[in-house]
Amino acid sequence: MTDLTSLTLAEARKGLAAKNFTSLELTDAHLSAIEKARVLNAFVIETPDQARAMAREADSKIAKGDAGPLAGIPLGIKDLFATRGVRTTACSKILGNFVPTYESTVTSQLWRDGAVMLGKLNNDEFAMGSANETSCFGPVGNPWRREGSNTTLVPGGSSGGSASAVAALLCMGATATDTGGSIRQPAAFTATVGIKPTYGRCSRWGIVAFASSLDQAGPIARSVRDAAMLLRSMAGHDPKDTTSVDIPVPDYEAAIGKSVKGMKIGIPREYRLDGMPAEIEKLWSEGAAWLKAAGAELVEVSLPHTKYALPAYYIVAPAEASSNLARYDGVRYGLREQGKNIIELYENTRAEGFGAEVRRRVMIGTYVLSAGYYDAYYLRAQKVRTLIKKDFEDCFAKGVDAILTPATPSAAFGIGEKGGADPVEMYLNDIFTVTVNMAGLPGIAVPAGKDVQGLPLGLQLIGRPFDEETLFSLGEVIEQAAGRFTPARWW
Ligand code: GLN
Repeated sequence: MTDLTSLTLAEARKGLAAKNFTSLELTDAHLSAIEKARVLNAFVIETPDQARAMAREADSKIAKGDAGPLAGIPLGIKDLFATRGVRTTACSKILGNFVPTYESTVTSQLWRDGAVMLGKLNNDEFAMGSANETSCFGPVGNPWRREGSNTTLVPGGSSGGSASAVAALLCMGATATDTGGSIRQPAAFTATVGIKPTYGRCSRWGIVAFASSLDQAGPIARSVRDAAMLLRSMAGHDPKDTTSVDIPVPDYEAAIGKSVKGMKIGIPREYRLDGMPAEIEKLWSEGAAWLKAAGAELVEVSLPHTKYALPAYYIVAPAEASSNLARYDGVRYGLREQGKNIIELYENTRAEGFGAEVRRRVMIGTYVLSAGYYDAYYLRAQKVRTLIKKDFEDCFAKGVDAILTPATPSAAFGIGEKGGADPVEMYLNDIFTVTVNMAGLPGIAVPAGKDVQGLPLGLQLIGRPFDEETLFSLGEVIEQAAGRFTPARWW
């Protein structure tokens, strides 16, 4: 029998239905892969007993012919999703050993559809970062390495554990979240597929909040089809999240293989950055050529406010984070550091519990929201946000169906190589992804090629609101043309 961990989710579904193997066998194969890959630090908690129990239940449902669409499929869960009875920390010391008594809506829908939980995945603390280096559990290793080098690279962030685990064949798919690029950037760094759906498509209930007007959940998977299958289970209206939208969830898988003939693809002029590596330029033109060969029409478009997106994001996101993170006070959850009075207890807990990047964001956020600076920073950033959204609306109003851009300005870099002296160096990684969150649009990252060092690179497609289907159709064209990429095992 082929190694069960190397199957795609769609192949595993077929194999389970044909009774070629059981979910318990599939789950055990992944549990043993996880054990052998601990050096990657992708999982922060392994839940083998729960996984086997869920697998047995899936097997009995499959035997009875009563299997859900993800029956028996082993998944990893980003540690930002509350999981009932399983420690949930957002990879922050401040949550300590917090064990939720409830389950996030997104994960409960995955379990409803029969999926199996292997454990919780590492991420940047409170999802703040682009390299998974701010986690209180330490950095995650990217299964990809530069040709001829032993240097461990970052998997991107903040969903670094999700991307690394999926790329290293430790789980068949993973949940992730994206506030400014945290699904798409790690997907691009690991040759996996990641989709951030439209804001409102997935419920945020039970997901640790970072910046509530930007946060969205989505899957990371090994193929476009697998991502479509996962999103179908994750998406949907939830009365417990008033920002989730009450429109039907389409069968995303049906979009795969649909003709893209006649679709208009926008190539935004402003994403051609000075000093962008030539290989990213080349990848972008190749991607455009593949879509053209499949019958799509390419048009140059302009998104004139692009250059303001990153600065505006780094005002809006910290502002919302400073407000969301006010709840971690040492009284209600997790860590508590004593003090002589309640104020000192708050101060000691927050100083001890939050890492450096989180403290920086809380300070920036508090500053831009403070009485004297609110108009100059926060209000102005919100106005810029409206202009960014309008750029996209103007483009779609001209008949553009989707926009093609690079996913990241570079391939993966080494642990500790970026942002040490200047955090802005790290923030620049999000240059192609934050616009999409600011506008609330869906965006998918698909592996498209490799750089000269042999590292994967991805392309991003941005769609109209709630038109994830077009992204799946176009994404699969790129996947077919580029092929799939698997890292050589060194762990
Ligand atoms: N890297 C970005 C940040 O640090 C985005 C993170 C995310 O999408 N969660 O804010």
